[in-house]
Amino acid sequence: GRINVAIDGPAGAGKSTVARKVAEQLGYIYIDTGAMYRAVAYAAIGAGITPDDSDRLGQLVQTLNITLEPGGAGQTVWLNGENITSAIRTREVTLIVSQIASHEAIRQRLVELQRGLAESKGIVMDGRDIGTHVLPDAEVKVFLMASVQVRALRRFRELSGNEAVPLQQLEREIAERDRSDERREISPLICAKDAEVIDSTELTIDQVVALILDLCRT
Ligand code: C5P
Repeated sequence: GRINVAIDGPAGAGKSTVARKVAEQLGYIYIDTGAMYRAVAYAAIGAGITPDDSDRLGQLVQTLNITLEPGGAGQTVWLNGENITSAIRTREVTLIVSQIASHEAIRQRLVELQRGLAESKGIVMDGRDIGTHVLPDAEVKVFLMASVQVRALRRFRELSGNEAVPLQQLEREIAERDRSDERREISPLICAKDAEVIDSTELTIDQVVALILDLCRT
């Protein structure tokens, strides 16, 4: 039968690439929960709300219609009818998203949406709290990690042109986002007790995908 697969881990460990490929192989739907937190961050910027303004953020999230549309070329992210797929990947969003994600009202709302999406099984969901909190009953749980140097290098190679950022700065920013995700009070980034830990520092994407597919078949 169909199962649910939870993939958690720090920023830049390759979760989204790997999760998308695993979903493709299994004929499952991939859900990127980070994109949902990014959508809220994007909306907050648009509404002129600062990332520390709990009250206004709590009100804002209730007005947002966030939808993830699976597709061959990847997932399209919609916010109240606007296609924000690339707009949520800017540095401006990346630099505030972790603080946005620390507010209880925002997490409650998004977790509710995420659980609804996973109800029918056949989901590969990636994030920070999927195995520990969103889908504690997921049949397969993976904690995907890699050294901060390798994660920064992967990001460095993705960014180019006017978004180019020095490698050492990326390393600092990634380490900072990890710290903030690990230290927040509500569902912090931690490895679930029953998760399989995969260190991708010296593995290719396809090797990681193969390891996860093995877990899904046993
Ligand atoms: O996965 P991505 O790097 O796009 O996630 C952006 C941010 O959203 C994370 O740094 C984290 O603060 C937040 N997030 C979260 N819980 C999730 C997914 C993402 O708090 N399940």
